[in-house]
Amino acid sequence: MQTALGAAAVAALPTSAALAQAVQTLSRVDGAVEAIGLDGRKLTLEHAALEELRDSLQGRLLLPGHEGYDAARRVVNAGIDKYPALVVQPTGASDVMRAVEFARQRDLLLAVKCGGHSYGGKSTCDGGLQIDLSTLRGTHVDARTRRAHVAGGSLLASLDHEAMAQGLVTTAGTVSHTGVGGLTLGGGFGRLARRFGLALDNVTAVDIVTADGKLVHANAEEHPDLYWGVRGGGGNFGVVTRFEFQLHPMKRTVVGGDLLFPLSQLRDIARFYADYSRQAPDELYLDMMANSPIGKPDGIVGMHVCYSGPEEKAEAVLAPLYKAGKPIRDGIERRDYVAIQQIHDNSDPRNHAQYLKSGFINELPDALVDLIADNFDGFVERGTMLAFQHAGGAISRVPADATAFAQRKAIANMLFFVRWPLAESPEQHVAYIREEWKPFERFTDGWYANEVTNESARVVGGNYQGNYERLVQVKNRYDPGNLFRLNANVQPTA
Ligand SMILES: Cc1cc2nc3c(=O)[nH]c(=O)nc-3n(C[C@H](O)[C@H](O)[C@H](O)COP(=O)(O)OP(=O)(O)OC[C@H]3O[C@@H](n4cnc5c(N)ncnc54)[C@H](O)[C@@H]3O)c2cc1C
Repeated sequence: MQTALGAAAVAALPTSAALAQAVQTLSRVDGAVEAIGLDGRKLTLEHAALEELRDSLQGRLLLPGHEGYDAARRVVNAGIDKYPALVVQPTGASDVMRAVEFARQRDLLLAVKCGGHSYGGKSTCDGGLQIDLSTLRGTHVDARTRRAHVAGGSLLASLDHEAMAQGLVTTAGTVSHTGVGGLTLGGGFGRLARRFGLALDNVTAVDIVTADGKLVHANAEEHPDLYWGVRGGGGNFGVVTRFEFQLHPMKRTVVGGDLLFPLSQLRDIARFYADYSRQAPDELYLDMMANSPIGKPDGIVGMHVCYSGPEEKAEAVLAPLYKAGKPIRDGIERRDYVAIQQIHDNSDPRNHAQYLKSGFINELPDALVDLIADNFDGFVERGTMLAFQHAGGAISRVPADATAFAQRKAIANMLFFVRWPLAESPEQHVAYIREEWKPFERFTDGWYANEVTNESARVVGGNYQGNYERLVQVKNRYDPGNLFRLNANVQPTA
């Protein structure tokens, strides 16, 4: 053990400028590791304590330089470049309990990573302990009870693949390598959400390791306060090691894909979207996006469709889309549901940094349509994307206090992204999108907790709306020391 940790320290010698800097900041002293505490203070993790932690795990303890460390610390937003002092890759709830206990006893900064899709990079950290759940994956479907049991580090692809194999589905997001963990705990919009509710509306139980290092089973009868809080409160209360989802029968074939128009038709398409997305049947999921790829002169505006209703009705439901403008590409066709769930899997910019502003809209009035159409041309060449993710339907029929997720009235989530090559510094791009977003903000009513950034984290309380006080009570009970703080953070008052 002594040798292994020592070897890791040697192997951690800088291989890049960024790593060099990080290793200098978080240097090892005589086999001990310097780390960062919850309050930002430097801590020393003694060699013996690291040995003890490692020996207590069935999974791996990684230090900088260990194989797998770099993949663990990285997240999908390549602009986030952080270096945890140590990483635990658990093989089960027991390892998660050890890691949580280790962090809590030392007031050590703690990050929890599932799919790594948090735009704000909340699943990695500098100098803390990262629990990387990528070693805790898998879905078991019980067709008899129509339940899926999903390990806490699983990606959406696993859930879709296993459930659909038995003619069953539940709501998942639109990119299949997103983590079930982060997506579900904060919301979970997707192609079936208007039919079956958010991903979190389908959670019937969780196993969760809370801040005291205990494994708790929460459902409507046991720990109902925690069960309520995890459905919208993000990772605030602990590490979910297993989700139980309700499943619904659905046929495999849907009608969907992308219908693309030139950016010059943005006003017409946005106006159409404003009307049609509201009156659409629950079986129709309709996103709108406008894109100005970096270095390409012509942008596009598109609608992404997934119609999962009776096939004989598809033509009538989709006909109005073709009258919204003059399409330049029609990618709508009969598709396998699991395949359409992967159709946008290459949409994330792995070699680019990105920043987003977003907010829920309860209506899309003409004034907002005009604002979009009058301004988006100017965004071309910035690598900007504007998107509306469809909400409403079954999502809005759940009372706002039934789960911790508050924004039930939204018809869509409106998102602005800017992307830039890693070689460029972020400041000008972030300043640009913040400035462009300002006139749009007045049309929004709260923002998606899964899209929390350091900026929006300052106004978390109001964002949980009438649910915040109750969330604080749950936080006081299960995480009074605010160990789980890298999220849309609920501040304990206990
Ligand atoms: C390309 C892309 C597409 C997206 N599409 C959609 C979409 O269609 N619908 C939608 O609703 N959202 C979508 N999102 C947003 C997504 O919901 C959030 O980014 C979400 O946080 C991702 O979860 P993750 O597990 O991948 O992220 P991570 O970065 O791993 O985690 C995000 C947060 O959740 C916490 N967390 C993760 N797993 C657990 C766990 N098991 N227990 C406790 N805490 C945990 C982390 O600590 C962190 O605070 C998308 C994001 C991207 C980048």
